[in-house]
Amino acid sequence: MFLKIHEIRTMFLDFFKQKKHQILPGSSIVPKNDNSLLFVNAGMNQFKNVFLGNETSMFKRIATTQNCLRTGGKHNDLENVGYTNYHHTFFEMLGNFSFNDYCKEQAIIYAWEFITSIKWLNLNPEKIWISVHAADKKSYEIWKKILPKSKNQIFIFGNKKKIQENDENFWQMGKIGPCGFCTEIFYQYTDYNKNYENIIHFIQKSCVEIWNIVFMEFYQSLKNSFIPLSVHSIDTGMGLERIGAVLQNVKSSYDTDIFQKIIQKIIDIIHIKEKKNTTSIKIIADHIRAAVFILASEILPSNEGRGYILRKIIRRAILHGHKIGANGLFFYKLVSIVIHVMKNNNILLIEQENKIKKIIYQEETKFLETLDIGIKILNKELKKIKNNTLNGAVIFQLYDTFGFPKELTKEICKEKNIKCDFQVFQKKMKIQQEKSKKNKKFFVKNSENLPLNIYSTFQGYNQLIIKSTIIHINIE
Ligand code: ATP
Ligand code: MG
Ligand code: MG
Ligand code: MG
Repeated sequence: MFLKIHEIRTMFLDFFKQKKHQILPGSSIVPKNDNSLLFVNAGMNQFKNVFLGNETSMFKRIATTQNCLRTGGKHNDLENVGYTNYHHTFFEMLGNFSFNDYCKEQAIIYAWEFITSIKWLNLNPEKIWISVHAADKKSYEIWKKILPKSKNQIFIFGNKKKIQENDENFWQMGKIGPCGFCTEIFYQYTDYNKNYENIIHFIQKSCVEIWNIVFMEFYQSLKNSFIPLSVHSIDTGMGLERIGAVLQNVKSSYDTDIFQKIIQKIIDIIHIKEKKNTTSIKIIADHIRAAVFILASEILPSNEGRGYILRKIIRRAILHGHKIGANGLFFYKLVSIVIHVMKNNNILLIEQENKIKKIIYQEETKFLETLDIGIKILNKELKKIKNNTLNGAVIFQLYDTFGFPKELTKEICKEKNIKCDFQVFQKKMKIQQEKSKKNKKFFVKNSENLPLNIYSTFQGYNQLIIKSTIIHINIE
């Protein structure tokens, strides 16, 4: 059954409405009163205090559709984007929640009914695989009764003696916060073949994780201890783009209706002849969506915190655009198509269109100037080189002072058959990182009061960022 992304969202909410859930709007992607996160990474975030028992919810059963961003902290998919068929930085999570109401069995039965019932998504039950935690016997027994091939459709992960052996089947919002065992639903889109080394390989190559059902039972404290929660709750999350790919019978979320429209626009603007979902195209398509939604939540590009993530996303997409042949400005021209395909569930985007376009235009112009300066300096340096090798100190200076990406230096040198001395570059980077570590404590205390661990995950243009931060603090 082919269903458009918007139709699936509506069906999900209708289903849970029929099961007596209150339909509530998702929150902004910027978490409210929660310094443990830069951006909302799951539907449960807005109910964190209810899970913890610090607040009570007016409703025991809730369903939402939540815009999420996974660009840092515990759930960081930035580096996955472009290299897998199913990871995005920005995506939509469909979720149903129960607070002191139904438990494991009912949550699993609802999920099964929604995905396999002929009235709803009508997926082939034999194509579904389930993962459970080794210590979570109850979920195993429930699934065994439901699945057509019983336990032969279940993977068991984790160590039954330890709560949290690894990340599999134990879900945590972040380094601290609510957490618990989970059972995940996978859809198999190609057959098992003899080349697979083991079952994990099969999951990675032939299946896509579509839905996670989490049993919120503990609070994870900073000391890595798990404190049992007084209220037992259910939190589920299903990736809308992924279930969209399954229902549209395509092997990548980037081939679904919404992404195909964005990708067609990229192809038209950059004048790409061969229509393909290359890594660069996927990155641009993903990052323009993320950039539009971050800007719509009043964050501006900057050298710290959320604004830094935004800047990093915009710059990465621009670099990929130029890699595949973009000439001059192109990124800001994609804003309208994103708003057009996403407005259905995000009506407020429409009135922000001009503002968002303008900011991306300015950011893109500034970055192209940076690149321009960098290329001029690099060309000058290239005329002076000895032994056909570019000095690592030059690569470092370009990167550190001008924000000129080292990959670009490498690429330009490669075209001219010139080697790059990355050993010296790495040495200088290390010294710089040591220096910035010392400065970071000061930086964090004086800025948004966010925990240090969030900042320590930043990569890429951080040298520039830290410099300007120090200047900023000194002026104050
Ligand atoms: P994966 O193992 O594929 O990275 P996950 O286990 O990290 O996914 P969860 O934290 O369980 O994901 O999130 C719940 C659901 O949200 C997943 O089952 C998936 O459908 C969807 N999802 C998670 N991360 C992404 C992403 N980066 N892009 C699109 N959908 C996602
Ligand atoms: Mg993940
Ligand atoms: Mg997973
Ligand atoms: Mg999961």
